[in-house]
Amino acid sequence: MYIVFLGAPGAGKGTQAATVAEKLNLAHIASGDMFREAQKQETELAKQAKVYMEKGMLVPDDITIQMVLERIAAPDCERGVIFDGFPRTLEQAKALDEALGKQGKMIDSVVYIKVAEAELLERLSGRWICRQCQTPYHMVNSPPQTPGKCDRCGGELYQRPDDTPETVKERLKVYFAETAPLIDHYAQAGKLLEVGGEGGVDEVRERILASLEKETVK
Ligand code: AMP
Repeated sequence: MYIVFLGAPGAGKGTQAATVAEKLNLAHIASGDMFREAQKQETELAKQAKVYMEKGMLVPDDITIQMVLERIAAPDCERGVIFDGFPRTLEQAKALDEALGKQGKMIDSVVYIKVAEAELLERLSGRWICRQCQTPYHMVNSPPQTPGKCDRCGGELYQRPDDTPETVKERLKVYFAETAPLIDHYAQAGKLLEVGGEGGVDEVRERILASLEKETVK
């Protein structure tokens, strides 16, 4: 199964993609996490991506596509993948279709997690992430059990530099201009599953799983 998780920054894609991937035993590919990981290692890729990420802009397609296509060639992707934060442009969507097509595979479903814009802003401004395992927390809605520490791995929590109000605004603008057109693209291909992203994390996950299950028994 190859599934794309689509949604605005703050819609809960990362949280949901990680747990759904674990539940369905699929690899979880999060392009944002890959870029942040590269920053830690100070690679050439990181240098190229950094300036765009800091401004809340998209990293150019050629760099992003190459990084993700290399990743999907790894053996753990054989069983299937949940893509989180990729594709984010039509160009990326086409490159992914083509790469999977060459292996006789295709995107089966696209889960679009829909959240109202006011709620997105509220969520992003209170977001803290684990430096080690990337699990997100919200200081009001889903705080960690011990302040500043990840419940899952004990890692240190930090606020992403691109979660500042100015950069958040830019990221949402970029999302509506560049990524939102993918909703239509996948709807036309008959692959879009729209899921309401408001409510508790468990509640949203159950909606996603129910919607995927309905799709696979069709
Ligand atoms: P995310 O963690 O998904 O919010 O991504 C953080 C940042 O990484 C984005 O604001 C972009 O600068 C960059 N990024 C992540 N995924 C992509 C992508 N598919 N295409 C271009 N840039 C990306």
